[in-house]
Amino acid sequence: MSVHEREDRALRLQRVAELLAEAVTPQEVLDAILTEGVRAAEARAGAIGVLSDDGESVELLAQQGYAGAIMEDWARFPVSAHVPMSQVMRTGEPLFISTLTERNELFPELAQRGQEGSSIAVLPLAVEGRVFGAMALSFADEVEFGLERREMKVALARQASQALARSRLFAQEQALRERMTFLAEASELLSSSLDYNLTLRQLTQLAVPGLADWCAIDMAGENGEIVRLAVAHQDPEKVRWAYALQDRYPPKPDQPHGVPQVLRSGEAEFFPVIPDEILEEAIGDDEEMREIVEQLGLRSTICVPLTARGRTLGALTLIAAETHPTYTEADLQLALELAHRAAVAVDNARLYGEAEKGANAAQALAYVADGVVLLDGDGVVRHWNPAAAAITGVDETHALGKPVDEVVSAWAALTSHVPLAQPGASGTRPVTVPLVLDGRELWVAVSGVDFGEGTVYALQDVTGERALEKTRSDFVATASHELRTPLAAVYGAVRTLRREDIELSEADRTTFLEMIESEALRLSHIVGQILLAGQLDADAVELSVTECNPAEIAAGVIESASVHLPEGITLSLNADGAPSIMCDENKLRQVLVNLLDNGIKYSPDGGKVGIRLERDGNGCLIEVSDEGLGIPSSEREKIFEKFYRLDPQQTKGVGGSGLGLYICRELVERMDGTLVVDSEPGVGSRFTVALPARP
Ligand code: ADP
Repeated sequence: MSVHEREDRALRLQRVAELLAEAVTPQEVLDAILTEGVRAAEARAGAIGVLSDDGESVELLAQQGYAGAIMEDWARFPVSAHVPMSQVMRTGEPLFISTLTERNELFPELAQRGQEGSSIAVLPLAVEGRVFGAMALSFADEVEFGLERREMKVALARQASQALARSRLFAQEQALRERMTFLAEASELLSSSLDYNLTLRQLTQLAVPGLADWCAIDMAGENGEIVRLAVAHQDPEKVRWAYALQDRYPPKPDQPHGVPQVLRSGEAEFFPVIPDEILEEAIGDDEEMREIVEQLGLRSTICVPLTARGRTLGALTLIAAETHPTYTEADLQLALELAHRAAVAVDNARLYGEAEKGANAAQALAYVADGVVLLDGDGVVRHWNPAAAAITGVDETHALGKPVDEVVSAWAALTSHVPLAQPGASGTRPVTVPLVLDGRELWVAVSGVDFGEGTVYALQDVTGERALEKTRSDFVATASHELRTPLAAVYGAVRTLRREDIELSEADRTTFLEMIESEALRLSHIVGQILLAGQLDADAVELSVTECNPAEIAAGVIESASVHLPEGITLSLNADGAPSIMCDENKLRQVLVNLLDNGIKYSPDGGKVGIRLERDGNGCLIEVSDEGLGIPSSEREKIFEKFYRLDPQQTKGVGGSGLGLYICRELVERMDGTLVVDSEPGVGSRFTVALPARP
């Protein structure tokens, strides 16, 4: 080779190097190699191929000077193929073939294909020892590849490698930056509102045309149906068409591909190039559908699930059709990331909605009179409303987050007999359970519902109702007993009097008649007490207040009592210095009769029973005392309750309704006075009425 030739070659290489240095994008680099590079190498044609991301195939990036449909025929072929470019990529060694015969010998496949041309040189493209592609050069004439020629080609390939790798990196970086910008914009959009219908719709708008020609979001409906939330395309006319299409051909949930498949499996579906058979499958025999599919010009699709907390909420579809290049692995990653963010946004919006609903419910529960307790699956308190706090005496802050057994020690006793209803089923009847909490005796009606993730209990404090019920049953028991005894006596006496078979003396007759009279009196007394207690309860007792002399009233009461005085009882009255007061004379008499009767009645072994009056400031104190049975201190307040009797079985043979003291205290209090008792069991009792000068 002449000096001139050598200089010329160096100059040409120099020129290629300059051009490559200026080229920025991969396309510019490819153009520079395939024009100036090919010319510098004195080749007729050139082509550049690169290894695919997965390293399995060769993608032809560009060519210059080859005839026919080389770009279509050789767009993508396996690295394992027995062709020069594949071999160079596998071995990393340049390949120089001078003659067609030689080439056909080495690569019979090419011979079969009838590929024309004579000499070829195929050079690896590599950086830092890693082969990423190859450059093929074809020559018009047969070329003898001497050392210098070879070196020149290798030098050219090295320059091309550097430039191409740099530009590809640049492009990758730029694409990455674009993606990051897109993701940032999308994230901002997704977090801008809790109305996810709106934000997802805007998201699809954001994706076209940068990310896709078509972008759609479909949501999984509650009953397995597929709800199209949004479709975007740059052309609004096409969007309308897509919606109309969706109405005509609604997606079938069991479809083998696309959104239904992604919703079912929760896995992404990615077709870098949509295989014909899938399109054919979708078209079936529908000619109209065929037309639509052709019109759409679908090339490449990505369909990714919107998954949050393990649930597939919907699917995001990106379609490359008329303008967008086919999708790559990087696009899939971007789509996955985007779908992830969208799903989290949807999930958050839904959770927020539920939380808000929950907050409203909690607010409502705060006003519910029943205690509401929600336990999770582990029996830990998750809700404790104010009524629950009032019933149990434990406030919300002490209950929340703790195992319920720790909160209320009697919880097991309280709920163990409560049958749990299933949600939606007609509720079970509440069970009423007695409970001692903080020393308070309560009756609580409890019902429960098992809602799968835990249990809700409703508690109702029915202590009041229970007490009322008890009063009622006490009344029935007492009244029936107390009424039956005198009635039986009257009945017996009347039957005896009417008998004709026995002759009764006049004295016997008198005794029986007296008995009838006294028992009838007792009956009317009890009935009177029951009626009066009822009136007091209903607040229907009228007082007629006049000036009266308590000493006189007491004297009258003592006098009446002395008529039928049991044996062993002596009566006394001490009324020195008692003032006159304003009160209801009859009611005061009734009180004193009752107290004196009790004093006599509960002194079965006899003793002194007396009334003592004295001035107390402006008012008057009236004491009724006896030396009888006495009352244990624990019972001293209870004896004033309705129907309460120390000895309900009347073992000591003393009858009574249990209403007397209740009536006494109620009457005295209505005259603005007080009635208290002081007593020692076995020694006697003293009841003291204190009345003011005027009520
Ligand atoms: P009762 O009709 O049973 O006498 P009360 O209301 O008058 O009803 O009295 C309630 C209970 O109080 C009585 O059953 C009795 O046990 C007790 N009690 C009342 N007065 C006396 C008293 N003076 N001494 C002892 N116990 C009394």
